[in-house]
Amino acid sequence: MEQKILELRQRAADAIKTAANNLKDLDNIRVKFLGKKGEITSLLRGMSQLSAEDRPRIGKIVNEARAQIEMLIAEKNESLKAKELSDKLASEKIDVTLPGRQIHSGHLHPLTLTLNRVKEIFLQMGYTIEEGPEVETDYYNFEALNLPKDHPARDMQDSFYITDDILLRTQTSPVQARTMERHEPNTPIRMIAPGRVYRRDDYDASHSPMFTQVEGLVIDKGIRFSDLKGTLEWLLKQLFGEKARARLRPSFFPFTEPSTEVDVSCVMCHGQGCKVCKGTGWLEILGAGMVHPDVLTMSGYDPKVVSGFAFGLGIERIAMLSYGIDDLRLFYDNDIRFLQQF
Ligand SMILES: [Zn+2]
Repeated sequence: MEQKILELRQRAADAIKTAANNLKDLDNIRVKFLGKKGEITSLLRGMSQLSAEDRPRIGKIVNEARAQIEMLIAEKNESLKAKELSDKLASEKIDVTLPGRQIHSGHLHPLTLTLNRVKEIFLQMGYTIEEGPEVETDYYNFEALNLPKDHPARDMQDSFYITDDILLRTQTSPVQARTMERHEPNTPIRMIAPGRVYRRDDYDASHSPMFTQVEGLVIDKGIRFSDLKGTLEWLLKQLFGEKARARLRPSFFPFTEPSTEVDVSCVMCHGQGCKVCKGTGWLEILGAGMVHPDVLTMSGYDPKVVSGFAFGLGIERIAMLSYGIDDLRLFYDNDIRFLQQF
């Protein structure tokens, strides 16, 4: 019996040492010797046949053998685990020189960037930003702006009509009338209305049936033409740099009186004359004027108490001048090679 136990222990030790090459093999060996149907367990079962005097002695030897086998298995288990870990680390070595996978993140469109700049400039001057519907009624788009149905100036802004009285707005000025109506009469207003506008127009290098406009309106007691000029000069310097100068030319708009076209000194040649400004040194940039008394009256304001100025500029035009872009269509063609440059 003793001999049998010693021989079993030796077999177990040999198996653990040589046959267990991984954790799974080791576990099989553990089951074979120590498991419920294992060799040690069956030895212990056979002890009932031993004489009462032999039993404690043999039992002690079996228990010692089992403890030794358990210890050998635990030791082997540790070394196998360590080996598996180092094998894994070796096989999963990372090549730090491999270039990373590039993530293409989008960015803002040049027109959005330009619009954001314009918004910031006016926010700094205490203006609010007002918005209105792109599908507008004839009343707000034309009549409230002093353009009755038979007014010839409507032809300059021919639009896309949905019905006789509903159209895609040709300007963001309707937002001004809507804002004035929302306020108590004669409440001071200082606002810009940015957004898309629509006109029946050709689609070429400098025209588009859809474009982005920013219109501004200031109404208060004692607003004068010099306030308009100062505001626009400040705007142009913010947009095009300290050297930028403004030039005002008399013009006509139905909703302002007097009205003016505003030129900025050429951003390319600073007034010397070049191809961009066609040798004149100036570039048309926006239209403006003092709010027509009729427009004030129609929105419930009293032209005897308050006065105001209004202006409108195209975001595409400013973006083209800021970035040196010569074709308007580039903004809408969605050519990734163009858009990636911003
Ligand atoms: Zn020029």
